[in-house]
Amino acid sequence: MKCLPEVAQLAKDHGALVVVDAVCTLTTMPLQMDEWGIDVTIAGGQKGLSSIPGVSLIAFSEEAWNTIKSRKARQPHWCLDALRAQTFWGSQQYHYTAPVPGILAIHEALRQICEETLPVRFERHRTSSIALQAGIETMGLQLFVPIRDRLNSVVAIQTPLDTDNAKIRKTMSTRFHVEISGAFGLDIMRIGQMGEQCRSQNLFKVLYALGMSCRQQGVDLDVSLGMAELERNLVIDPENLVD
Ligand SMILES: *Cc1c(COP(=O)(O)O)cnc(C)c1O
Repeated sequence: MKCLPEVAQLAKDHGALVVVDAVCTLTTMPLQMDEWGIDVTIAGGQKGLSSIPGVSLIAFSEEAWNTIKSRKARQPHWCLDALRAQTFWGSQQYHYTAPVPGILAIHEALRQICEETLPVRFERHRTSSIALQAGIETMGLQLFVPIRDRLNSVVAIQTPLDTDNAKIRKTMSTRFHVEISGAFGLDIMRIGQMGEQCRSQNLFKVLYALGMSCRQQGVDLDVSLGMAELERNLVIDPENLVD
């Protein structure tokens, strides 16, 4: 698998623009839009940024913006009209009614991110993810993604043989009040630990819920060994313990 700067270069070599969906990664791991040659980055508020759903951020490179400005075709939908959006934000011309609470929420989320600083936030997500991965594997489950391609914000787990991950997730939800997701087309479960969710108390809760719910489906796991491994791997930074 190639890394983003290589993908972007390949696209450039073929005259294409590169759009990156950073919904779950923005502020959880580095993303150097200009240095890596990315033309458009999109992000929702509800994942890595830890705001609420409904307001999205989008950024364009010079080249992408020039391409948009020179488009001749009428936009098929007003939602896709970046020029109108720009005049809304830049020149106070009507495009839609602004979702005021969402904008305040994203402002507050970004304020908290600035306060924490990006390097600290990246490190918090990285150490939390590694600890969670270690806990899951030690418990006896298998991770889906090869180690070099893993995100800091989502951990993908193979569904144990001969089990139905929808049943495991149902137990997690009803008995432990923890929601994780399945996937589109793959037999995996995904744990998202992003933004304010990515704190040690939540990691323990999700790992315990996962382990016990798998066991209820007859999967032979050592839950306590996994919990101990999670604890051992979490760098106990006093900051991490503050709610
Ligand atoms: C969650 C997610 C989306 C979709 O966001 P919704 O929550 O369904 O609005 C898109 N891309 C990535 C990478 C995501 O993680």
